[in-house]
Amino acid sequence: MPDNPNAEIIAIGTELLLGEITDTNSVYMARQLRDIGVNVFFMTTVGDNLGRIGDAISAALDRAEIVITTGGLGPTVDDMTRQAVADAVDRPLEFHQSLYEGIAERFRGFGSKMTENNRQQAYLPQGAILVENPVGTAPAFVVESDRGVVISLPGVPREMTYLMTEAVLPYLLQKYELGIIVARILRTAGIGESSLDDQIGKEILSETNPSVGLAAHHGCVDVRVTAKAESKIEAARMLDQMQARVEARIGEHIYGIDDATLEDVVWRDIAKRGLRVHVIEAGLPGVISGSWDGDAKLLSASQYDDPQQLYNHYAVAEEEVSLRDFAIDLAQRQRQTGGADASIVVLSYPDLDENADIEQGSAIAISTAWNLAYRVYGFGTQSHLAREWLSRWGLANLWRMLRERYGD
Ligand code: ATP
Repeated sequence: MPDNPNAEIIAIGTELLLGEITDTNSVYMARQLRDIGVNVFFMTTVGDNLGRIGDAISAALDRAEIVITTGGLGPTVDDMTRQAVADAVDRPLEFHQSLYEGIAERFRGFGSKMTENNRQQAYLPQGAILVENPVGTAPAFVVESDRGVVISLPGVPREMTYLMTEAVLPYLLQKYELGIIVARILRTAGIGESSLDDQIGKEILSETNPSVGLAAHHGCVDVRVTAKAESKIEAARMLDQMQARVEARIGEHIYGIDDATLEDVVWRDIAKRGLRVHVIEAGLPGVISGSWDGDAKLLSASQYDDPQQLYNHYAVAEEEVSLRDFAIDLAQRQRQTGGADASIVVLSYPDLDENADIEQGSAIAISTAWNLAYRVYGFGTQSHLAREWLSRWGLANLWRMLRERYGD
């Protein structure tokens, strides 16, 4: 297969630079290009200024074979993309009578009168290939020049996405004889990025097709396997083989594939086995119990504003019993006395300031009849992360314990 071309994306519109709208178009286009194996190394945002748009296109053409613009194709004076592309590829604009009539026809269809400035939309850089836009009035076009290919799409997201999937991707696939790229995500829990890296090993991680990469999120790591092939079937076969190799090394840490979520996997398992879980949450209401939407008989939760209330309730002196030991004690006691199969206790002072004893910030303990797990976190100034880390840790350990006891 030939080397794949590089592309650049240019989002055009002063509204984008003013922060008035978010550039979702570039994100969409980048993903689509990724999926057909086209590399994107630069994305540019530029306002409605003829000189600057022309410069941006020109600079992109110096670096990449394909430049895709979005926006600035409308009928008004600040829609300058057509002229800027013409300038960048050094060609004049040409009037297209058929395009003009098509636009006029569309206006008639809407029951409104076409204004003279819509005429502007019938001008395209000389030699441009017209891309029909059945979902809007702004015509899109492709210019194949000595410097590279420029593809100009409208800014309206609905029009851009339609033209991207219906016209641009098929055009690129055919022109550059691209293969397809398919990715699969193996979701892991209860293991950190560096241990995963170590266990999967350099040999696998340095392979290029399929490639295997890690992406760490708060409290969990994804293993992304990507294959490029001539067909989807071939790509799936390659992914299966690589998945089996990765599983042979880290299978015990994989809880699901692609869209699986840890919450779903854990709670589904608990519901399936009819296990009863009790949760105490002090300081972070719902941190664990909030992800449960199953049978009310299986999960009971008690919530407190902060751990202090529990210390008071049990007449325990905070100086004498650490947050960790208190969490462990409560988890064990509650499971035994309450007759739950698993008991989870989260004690957290999430808004602890940075001068406080951060080691004491948050504690979590999980007690089951067959095991006990606990962890202390000091989030310090990162207290906004407490909820995410504690819920990830709690679910990951619960999942690990369930597996330990019941297998797959
Ligand atoms: P038209 O004139 O047919 O509306 P156009 O090509 O001139 O299309 P713009 O005028 O630049 O497009 O943008 C139209 C609208 O589309 C904007 O007001 C904005 O709501 C949305 N839009 C434009 N660019 C983007 C972008 N990069 N990401 C998300 N939305 C965008």
